[in-house]
Amino acid sequence: MAIWNLGSINVDIVFSVPHILEPGETLSSTGREIFLGGKGANMSVAAARAAARVNHIGAVGKDGEWAADRLLEYGVDTRNIAVLDTDTAQAIIMVDPHGENAIVLHPGANVEIPQTVLQTAMAEAQTGDWLVLQNETNLQRTAASMGKQMGLNVAYAAAPFDPDRVMAVLPYLDFLILNAVEAEQLREATGQSPDDLPVRDVIVTLGADGADWYGTSGKQHFDAIKVEPVDTTGAGDTFTGYVLAGLDRGMTMEQSIEQATKASALMVTRHGTADVIPDLSEVLAFQS
Ligand code: ADP
Repeated sequence: MAIWNLGSINVDIVFSVPHILEPGETLSSTGREIFLGGKGANMSVAAARAAARVNHIGAVGKDGEWAADRLLEYGVDTRNIAVLDTDTAQAIIMVDPHGENAIVLHPGANVEIPQTVLQTAMAEAQTGDWLVLQNETNLQRTAASMGKQMGLNVAYAAAPFDPDRVMAVLPYLDFLILNAVEAEQLREATGQSPDDLPVRDVIVTLGADGADWYGTSGKQHFDAIKVEPVDTTGAGDTFTGYVLAGLDRGMTMEQSIEQATKASALMVTRHGTADVIPDLSEVLAFQS
């Protein structure tokens, strides 16, 4: 089996600043670092590190070819990442000494993924494979309906949250994952709670409180593992990548969530995103 991830690839440019900028202010940074980021890329790396066969479907500009190369180094198949004549998506991130941040996102190539790239990828997909979508690219609805028609398991991480986009893909989904804030936003926008949704499996992640799984036999809660968090960025993406990799590799939902819980607890003890997602050997060795 395999995972096909139609997902964002961002270049994260992180500026350390004495405080978050005020309107009209000019401020020198005290440091700058550049990372591979984007929810899509993070999920691909997490699933690959959890030993799944992952194919990323996406786009970068020429300035972001290194980001696609980085994904390849992490074990992700990058043949379906188009290099377009446009900018790679960028996240300009300011971080103050207290860890507070402010982010400007330039969507760039992430929202210009050509339909032909999706079609070429899907021509290789097999019944029973997973198709994973988030909210930072174009083509979600097209991909979801194509995936459903082909008998793929269609999974959607509803972030960044947009009620119209969730409703557009909902009829095609087998798996939906939201964090607590997104679940609340869905409830406000549509009146539907996770157990009302017409989706086989719904997971609501609850940060340090763990996760709830709403499946065919009702709701099941999974506690998080107690750790000292230093940076919670990417916790949800790590969790999602690990759950889907587990399911794709034939593990039960319980086993997959337990492994994802360990992986994301380890993740919050580290600074950074895609580059520091733990691999399976670290997760298996991690004692709760
Ligand atoms: P998101 O990053 O999408 O907001 P969450 O914050 O809900 O997602 O985190 C996803 C998962 O990561 C949780 O279900 C939990 O297993 C793990 N996690 C997040 N924060 C912590 C924490 N402080 N301690 C231990 N595990 C955590």
